[in-house]
Amino acid sequence: MSAGTLILVATPIGNLGDMTQRATEALSNADVVCCEDTRRTGLLLQHLGISGKKYIVINEHTEHDACEEVVQRILGGSNVALVSDAGTPGISDPGERLVKAALSSGITVSAMPGASALTMALVMSGLSTSRFVFEGFLPRSGAERTQRIAGIVDEQRTVVLYEAPHRLEKTLVDLELACGALRRVVLARELTKMHEEMWRGTLHDAVKHSQQVEPRGEYVVLLEGAKPPAPPTDEEITAALRDEMNNGSSKKDAAAKVAAKFGAPKRKVYELALMLK
Ligand code: SAM
Repeated sequence: MSAGTLILVATPIGNLGDMTQRATEALSNADVVCCEDTRRTGLLLQHLGISGKKYIVINEHTEHDACEEVVQRILGGSNVALVSDAGTPGISDPGERLVKAALSSGITVSAMPGASALTMALVMSGLSTSRFVFEGFLPRSGAERTQRIAGIVDEQRTVVLYEAPHRLEKTLVDLELACGALRRVVLARELTKMHEEMWRGTLHDAVKHSQQVEPRGEYVVLLEGAKPPAPPTDEEITAALRDEMNNGSSKKDAAAKVAAKFGAPKRKVYELALMLK
């Protein structure tokens, strides 16, 4: 018997009307549906008129152990669909481990695209969409959180974060402390739902907003990328050249070192070096 396939199936993030026809067909045709919560996915399938499926629970606790069983089923000929509670599996949801396990067993992996809070929030944000980084959920506390936020400070691409409502204020406070009061931020709330809302402003105002209006529902936080550092002035380059030359470097060596230090064009730095006495 030939092996089946693993299909990642996106489901709505709030509005059931966002279930695509192909996603519905994939669930309908699957022999096994892997999901985080059988009750929740059972309700979705009931809404879609699909019944009689075998479920395997794959959540953050079971994904490790369930992978082997799922891979064996697919190798035995079953077609398996993987859904998460909402949105695209594998995006801050189980999926990555199963995909890796399937691929390493030579299984074909396919996907039915659909809703994801990440892309919807990004395209509506008004921030740069050409280059962005997805940080998912920040660690809740400790050195790991501090390091992740420190890594965001100088990030020039738009930064996309997921956050729970009861941690939103703390995250905005920490981001303001690290990135400054004036960095622009967008809060995308309850996307595709009745109370969908996009809030845009500075980090300082976002902190005030989260203190005045109790955050409720689901949020994506989008942070404007950091401005690129200003190029060094001729005076700064000249001062650095003098330091190097006072330490014994030739003009040529000083120019090479200073150009590398500032990321400045070598020719320009060398011309400034030639003008020094
Ligand atoms: N896999 C999902 C996806 O593709 O977007 C994300 C799952 S993750 C466990 C859940 C987080 O996604 C929420 O805490 C929130 O940050 C974000 N999210 C999910 N649905 C949302 C919605 N309708 N509006 C805003 N954010 C949402």
